Amino acid sequence: MNLTKIKQPFTEIFPGDFSGNPMQRMTPKVLFSTVFPVEFKNPKLIIFNEKLSEEIGLGSYEEKDLGFLVGNHLPDNVKPYSTAYAGHQFGNWAGQLGDGRAIYAGEIENQSGEKTEIQWKGAGATPYSRHADGRAVLRSSVREYLMSEAMYYLGVPTTRALSLSFTGENVVRDILYSGNPQEEKGAVVVRTAESFLRFGHFELISAQQEYNTLQDLLDFTIKNYFPEIQSEGTAKYKDFFENVANRTADLMVEWFRVGFVHGVMNTDNMSILGLTIDYGPFSMMDEYDLNFTSNTTDLPGRRYAFGKQGQIAQWNLWQLANALHPIIKDEKFLEDTLNKFGDYFWKEHDNMLCDKFGFGQLLESDEDFFTNWQGLMQEFQLDYTLFFNVLERIEEGRDLKTEFENISYISLDDKAFSKIKNFINQYKLRLEKNDISKEKSQELMQKSNPKFTLRNYLLYECIEEIENGKTILLEKIITALENPYEEKFPEFSVKRPSKYDDVSGCSMLSCSS
Ligand code: AMP
Ligand code: MG
Repeated sequence: MNLTKIKQPFTEIFPGDFSGNPMQRMTPKVLFSTVFPVEFKNPKLIIFNEKLSEEIGLGSYEEKDLGFLVGNHLPDNVKPYSTAYAGHQFGNWAGQLGDGRAIYAGEIENQSGEKTEIQWKGAGATPYSRHADGRAVLRSSVREYLMSEAMYYLGVPTTRALSLSFTGENVVRDILYSGNPQEEKGAVVVRTAESFLRFGHFELISAQQEYNTLQDLLDFTIKNYFPEIQSEGTAKYKDFFENVANRTADLMVEWFRVGFVHGVMNTDNMSILGLTIDYGPFSMMDEYDLNFTSNTTDLPGRRYAFGKQGQIAQWNLWQLANALHPIIKDEKFLEDTLNKFGDYFWKEHDNMLCDKFGFGQLLESDEDFFTNWQGLMQEFQLDYTLFFNVLERIEEGRDLKTEFENISYISLDDKAFSKIKNFINQYKLRLEKNDISKEKSQELMQKSNPKFTLRNYLLYECIEEIENGKTILLEKIITALENPYEEKFPEFSVKRPSKYDDVSGCSMLSCSS
């Protein structure tokens, strides 16, 4: 790998703490602290993402690069740091947080001039680790690596993963917070993104009333990541806020399209660029349920349930609006923009549903159709991904009973089947009103409805295998997730096996990582 081009432009512009003091502490008035990854004695590579490495300008992997991938060996030009941010967690202001287990190596530019930030996740404690150890376990690292790549290939904006390595060290975690801490294998993921800036970065400096730095951070963000914004003065910051709101709405619509539940939509986990970031207790939907939350810490309130993600994104944007108010100074504008978020989100959401059903345009009657559909999905616990796969082949005249038995998580009686039949008839009638050809409609469905989604039980099985030193399932999953709109392996096109219904890590997860 060519590591010599990695730079740290962020640290040249913003106030930082260069003491290298790794002690966990508050760091007012600085946006970052220099910090060094720990040295791991016995690291071992599990996966390296050759395609991504070439794409971002790092080139191909050689054995000696493992030292860099776990943070052990740094060329002179790599001066690592972690950033301070704040956040609202589960609806409450949490004050200063920061990169507690993420350390930046810096930024690399490829031949087309595209820049990518590179971070280690799990390479040791930083001033922002609070009471935690800055380590990550294999379990959560495999989940982050594979899910972020799966999202990328699904076409959902996301951070990405360059490598996954064992650290050779064990880490103690209490998975269920039940007073039963256990040793688990430690791992490091190298992750990449155009930028890892979060809502929380802006919230922190605004809360500390460092408005000059806030304006500098806005200017920096707009210049580097929002080239479409050409306005000047206050208009520039208004355009920025509108832009962030739209990108966030677009992201939420994408999460609904593929059935992704993030699980911890705190403002420190909201990317300012509208990327999916911080893969923790997330889940892809198996049985459709608007109330489903994948995070055990989110019970009983279900603040971060699947169906609430649009609303929560809007709430998070309110917090960003408050943070930017000292610069934008126009309450009415901020309020109007937040209200427009709702309209824009629902419009895009309904268009997305039209695509999934193969409808060329939204008709007035579709609102009722969608409501009926949601009722059906919810009542008969139908699998979200598989349902649309069944619809796609509905004209093939397969046996409806078998098709729906295979995708429901409950047993269906005659009454259920008659309701399902009824709905399918409604659907066929609706298709007849289409203003596009059958082929176009099929095309829309094929590109909107994945054939493969990375379900939690698959991750669970894959993690178990890697822990036992095998990578057969891992390789198969990588092939499947790189081609999510094709059916590469029929054995992945089935609902979650019932033996996993109540297994921790297969439907619900804790934040413990
Ligand atoms: P999360 O909910 O995973 O996004 O984490 C919330 C905050 O806790 C962030 O500031 C993280 O950096 C920090 N954090 C989570 N896990 C750890 C860990 N193992 N070590 C240090 N900091 C952590
Ligand atoms: Mg986080």
